[in-house]
Amino acid sequence: MEYFKKAPPQAAAVSQEIRDTVSRIISDVEREGVDAVRRYSEKFDGFAPAEFRLSEQDIHAQLAGIDEEVTRAIDFSIQQVKHFAGLQRRTLIDFEEETLPGVTIGQKQIPVNAVGSYIPGGRYPILASAVMTIGVPKVAGVKRIVACAPVQRGTGRVNALQLYGMVKSGADEIYAIGGAQAMAAMAFGLDGAPPLEAVDMIVGAGNAYVAEAKRQLFGVVGIDLLAGPTEICILADESADPEKVAADLLAQAEHGTNSQSVLITTSRALAQAVTQEIERQLAALPTADAAGTSWRDYGEILLVDSDEEMVTVSDQVASEHLEVMTRDPDWYLQRLTNYGSLFLGQNATVAYGDKGIGTNHVLPTSRAARYTGGLWVGKFIKTVTWQRVADDANQTVAPPFIRMADTEGMIGHADSMRLRLR
Ligand code: NAD
Repeated sequence: MEYFKKAPPQAAAVSQEIRDTVSRIISDVEREGVDAVRRYSEKFDGFAPAEFRLSEQDIHAQLAGIDEEVTRAIDFSIQQVKHFAGLQRRTLIDFEEETLPGVTIGQKQIPVNAVGSYIPGGRYPILASAVMTIGVPKVAGVKRIVACAPVQRGTGRVNALQLYGMVKSGADEIYAIGGAQAMAAMAFGLDGAPPLEAVDMIVGAGNAYVAEAKRQLFGVVGIDLLAGPTEICILADESADPEKVAADLLAQAEHGTNSQSVLITTSRALAQAVTQEIERQLAALPTADAAGTSWRDYGEILLVDSDEEMVTVSDQVASEHLEVMTRDPDWYLQRLTNYGSLFLGQNATVAYGDKGIGTNHVLPTSRAARYTGGLWVGKFIKTVTWQRVADDANQTVAPPFIRMADTEGMIGHADSMRLRLR
């Protein structure tokens, strides 16, 4: 493998300062509840209301007059993502089997009772965030879904179109709280009338404070996954269109100033054409400040000798999003093992997945695709097990297990089994 373009080395993404700030916010919210939330909300978002929960009237007023064409687009996204989540739900089955005469063992799927979803604010009010983290647990059968989103600076309001997405995706309670204080509030609950009851699991993307809060709160509650800055990797041979390759690399790069875009190709001519095309497109792209910085600092082009090497290197990169723009994308589908979501062929751009073609856009970053997939309906469902033992079956299972327990010195265990033999 040869670097056609190599990114310069970067400092660690999460500083000790962020860890300490988040740790302080979490312990303050745990101790002082809503007073601490109000103090941090005022400090970071200039927002200190008497009540953080949006009432039905607030929501109704804020949704009045929003753009109907955009709401139809959001509805389309919600439909696609919920439909696919429903299909995935079908793959999670309950079953039971008699594994020995009189011994019946089964598994059962139980949705998490209460989920807290964070909807990030930021440079772009991402409209598909709500369906990914509210619509999908709804399909899983989660009974109570709490949503938190920061207010937009200076307005004291959550973005109205994001709010529409939260309501339509099925949020049961919506709070105008951002950052680490939102994550802590959902994890510990808040007193009030009515109170915010603590949830069992917190999910959703956000900035470094939000991600660090999830990491520190894991254990108090469940989390989905730790999502860092977004990434794309494109596998392309000489058949790929440089204009599309460059556009897709830049589309991911525009997310922030530290988004990683990688091209792996067998064609030096394509590497050259894409490099030129990126410069040409950046000159006209309104988000070129972020996209250009990301491409300069995190963009890479890797030259490989064969399709097989493309697969090996791609599995090492283990990108969040992986596009395959080659003559035979299905050859890659059969061989690739590490990616968050795979986009096959010249048409399947990551942007389709991002906005809601059906798959979830909360995906593993920082090489976590080596050991996990992304958010999906199954993350909101606990696969639990059960067992039942008929009277006669005690004669089969008790003797070996009593022998094991006696050998271990766990006499209480052995006695509880001996009782079953009486
Ligand atoms: P955010 O909603 O993530 O965070 C806003 C909150 O950050 C504020 O409410 C505030 O409480 C907190 N905060 C800000 N400065 C702070 C400080 N100095 N100390 C402690 N807390 C502080 O919104 P954002 O930061 O404006 O940006 C959105 C982020 O979400 C971006 O980083 C973006 O990359 C990320 N994002 C990721 C995805 C994804 O799917 N991976 C999707 C959308 C957005």
